[in-house]
Amino acid sequence: MIETVLNPLLVPPVGPPTTQSNRERAGQVARRASIENSRLAAVPRKEYRRLLAGLEPVTLTFGEVLYEPGETIRHVYFPGSSLVSLLTLVDGHLTLETGLIGREGMVGIPLVLGHNVSSVRALVQGTGTAMRMAAARFSKEFRLSLALQQELYRYTHTLMAQIAQTAACNRFHVVEMRLARWLLMTHDRVKSDQFHMTHEFLGHMLGVRRVGVTKAAHALQQRKLIGYSRGDITVLDRRGLEAAACQCYDVVKDMHDGAPAGHAVRKMRISACLTAQIRSVRRHT
Ligand SMILES: [Zn+2]
Repeated sequence: MIETVLNPLLVPPVGPPTTQSNRERAGQVARRASIENSRLAAVPRKEYRRLLAGLEPVTLTFGEVLYEPGETIRHVYFPGSSLVSLLTLVDGHLTLETGLIGREGMVGIPLVLGHNVSSVRALVQGTGTAMRMAAARFSKEFRLSLALQQELYRYTHTLMAQIAQTAACNRFHVVEMRLARWLLMTHDRVKSDQFHMTHEFLGHMLGVRRVGVTKAAHALQQRKLIGYSRGDITVLDRRGLEAAACQCYDVVKDMHDGAPAGHAVRKMRISACLTAQIRSVRRHT
């Protein structure tokens, strides 16, 4: 059972009372949240204005399930400050995170590929803002907007790369490196040095038992890379955490940042080459 804990750091602040109408306020929230999401922000203004009419600002809450495997997708979500995990279920109860979606993406990618059923559980991992659109409206808008198609096809490719890299990472890399990768991916998306996450929840994300997460978190804490107290994680040394993570982090980040193809892979080859050279020098001295 996943513990449901609200992350106060990711809950949008409550503003002072205003005299604006609900409609005006919704419009403002919509504009703010849409700017937060980079896929929507990349759509030309004219097409974005048309999309806006079908978008609804929502707050996604930690622990909320947006889709279950086999369920019909009723809405797509463009996260702003919220964070959504894609979890693959095994044997009906074991879970493993295979994708992480924040302001750089969209939840509901099967619709982009003409399929309206989810194969994964989409679970809100960080409370925050998002814009959502009904599936039928989205499919119509998607057919009409070439810019939206280009943005979402590009994003689908990077999400597929992320899922493939995560599968390999889960098989080949140790929990400490995977935890560091996961913390960096979360840090990039929430844009805060602090976030709330229990060891139990992290275990569900990384597909390991709670004790494995505790050991890995303790190791990162001892190296003064993170602080951890009662579920509050603080990133203390971002560069150190990057050094502690496996290179899967770089591979996925480069894809999202639009770095030249193979950039991270080349870095991995150079790193492997340097390691071999160092070993060779050590053998001969
Ligand atoms: Zn890895």
